[in-house]
Amino acid sequence: MMDSKKFGYAIASTIEAEVVVCGGGVAGAMAAVAAARAGASVVLVERYGFLGGNATAGAVAQFNSWQTANGRRVVAGLADEVVDRLRHHGGAGEHATFVMSTGHKMDRVEYAPEVLKLVLDDMLQESGVRPLLHASVLDVAVTGRQIDALHVLTKSGVVELRARVLIDASGDIDALKRAGATFLELDDGEALQPATMMFRFGPIDFERFDALSKDEIAALARRGYDDGQLARAALHSSRDPFSNDGWFNISRLGIDATDAMALGAAEIEGRRQAWKAAQYLRQCVPGCEEGQLRAFGTQVGVRETRRIVGDHVLTSEELLLPKQFPDAIAAGAYPIDIHPAAGGELRYEGLGDDHAYQIPYRSLIPIGFDNALVVGRGVSATHSAHAAIRVMTISMAVGQAAGVAASIAAKGDGKVRAVPMPVLRERLLEDGAKLG
Ligand SMILES: Cc1cc2nc3c(=O)[nH]c(=O)nc-3n(C[C@H](O)[C@H](O)[C@H](O)COP(=O)(O)OP(=O)(O)OC[C@H]3O[C@@H](n4cnc5c(N)ncnc54)[C@H](O)[C@@H]3O)c2cc1C
Repeated sequence: MMDSKKFGYAIASTIEAEVVVCGGGVAGAMAAVAAARAGASVVLVERYGFLGGNATAGAVAQFNSWQTANGRRVVAGLADEVVDRLRHHGGAGEHATFVMSTGHKMDRVEYAPEVLKLVLDDMLQESGVRPLLHASVLDVAVTGRQIDALHVLTKSGVVELRARVLIDASGDIDALKRAGATFLELDDGEALQPATMMFRFGPIDFERFDALSKDEIAALARRGYDDGQLARAALHSSRDPFSNDGWFNISRLGIDATDAMALGAAEIEGRRQAWKAAQYLRQCVPGCEEGQLRAFGTQVGVRETRRIVGDHVLTSEELLLPKQFPDAIAAGAYPIDIHPAAGGELRYEGLGDDHAYQIPYRSLIPIGFDNALVVGRGVSATHSAHAAIRVMTISMAVGQAAGVAASIAAKGDGKVRAVPMPVLRERLLEDGAKLG
């Protein structure tokens, strides 16, 4: 009998930087760019060969809620630059108002996910961020409250990244999970929001499709759902800026996406649901008769997994007040939008016409660590507060703030709680961000 293999690994190489960002979704990409522009040396680690996360691999294709219902801008800064650059390539439309199935009015920018990959590449390279693509979190070295190094698995073996500050932007907060961080639990009656396999469908006769009234759309969606053709009673979609195709957000996969087997099964089930939905569109929805399913998302889009326990846990009550925070580093106006894990209607709490809320810096700081920050959908927020602040506009704004904060901390001893709030907030305002 052969000896069983001993596991353990050797470090193939070590990279040093002031700031390491783990995960290149929109939150991580903005954090890396902001940190580099603020003067830090930055490495961005990403498991895929491109950036964007849900925004590209998940093909979400629309940035929602830049402003309150009555038009007061609450997100700008780097997020605006992303849209400007997308438009430069023809890859994004104008800010447009649209009315949700719930009747709530919001604004959005539809964009082409493939162009966003290019835009994020450009922003990274121009700002001097060193990207380490095709690199997945393997482990984290910790001494007490200090993250010493992130180990990632790459084609070249295990790479060790040593930095003064780690920003975990992996959505699932995989790095801090390995570091032993504490995460929020769901309360009784709550379930993780479902994942969705987005799909591209076209051509669509948009003159006829867009002419459908809200009631007609609701009736078509309900019929498809009752007949078992649609997993979600909705026809929610965004238009590709280059063609007469749309990206449809109408599948529903109630999983914990940090469970590897469940995630893989959801990819397969998601493609089945999307295929069936595309047949329903062709057969029953005016304007869609000539359409074909042209592409699936590279992976299912994941709305919610781990949320960190931070120095401040943001609640929906605070968003609805809205509570003013002295350490506000970003703002938002997206409503509380909870997709049920299976079937059922959205839980949707619209906001008043001029209602915006703030996100405090303390919600980015994981308890138990001195030199780490969390951005994007893993920020410290209750399930219902997360349902509002998870969107890409807010994720980009929070990412920008964390990047600047990390660069300030990295010039000292890396301690993120020592970042002076007036300095951070002033710097963000100078850079065009909105703080609410
Ligand atoms: C179906 C769906 C529809 C949505 N609709 C909208 C909408 O209409 N408008 C809107 O604004 N927002 C929408 N959202 C929300 C929004 O897309 C996300 O909340 C947002 O993109 C989160 O960004 P993020 O950067 O925090 O995370 P992610 O996009 O999840 O990015 C995480 C990144 O980390 C990488 N990563 C993960 N694990 C590892 C690892 N172990 N090692 C290395 N890298 C890793 C991933 O590849 C990814 O690039 C939607 C989300 C979904 C799923």
